[in-house]
Amino acid sequence: MDWEAVCCRCGRCCYEKIDFEGQIYYTDIPCQFLDPASNLCQVYAERDIRRPGCVRLCPENVAKGFLPADCPYVVGLDNYPAPIMPDADEP
Ligand code: SF4
Ligand code: SF4
Repeated sequence: MDWEAVCCRCGRCCYEKIDFEGQIYYTDIPCQFLDPASNLCQVYAERDIRRPGCVRLCPENVAKGFLPADCPYVVGLDNYPAPIMPDADEP
């Protein structure tokens, strides 16, 4: 299957994140280029230039814990370090 076909276009990985001591925390703030109606990137072809911090999805990157635990790219990965989502219960 084509690598990008795995994505279900939910747009959640385009929300700002904070890395605190190796644990990724999601915020409820979307990237300025995420279209809230379609959940698609409005600058996809040139995202590296328009938003230098945008992380390309590749097998090495998806294993790092940037994607929500139920994202199709990471479902089934052993020991996936899932990020903390903004609606998660406080510990
Ligand atoms: S979280 Fe996963 S399925 Fe959703 S847009 Fe990002 S890569 Fe695609
Ligand atoms: S620039 Fe990157 S983070 Fe922002 S909407 Fe596009 S793909 Fe998502």
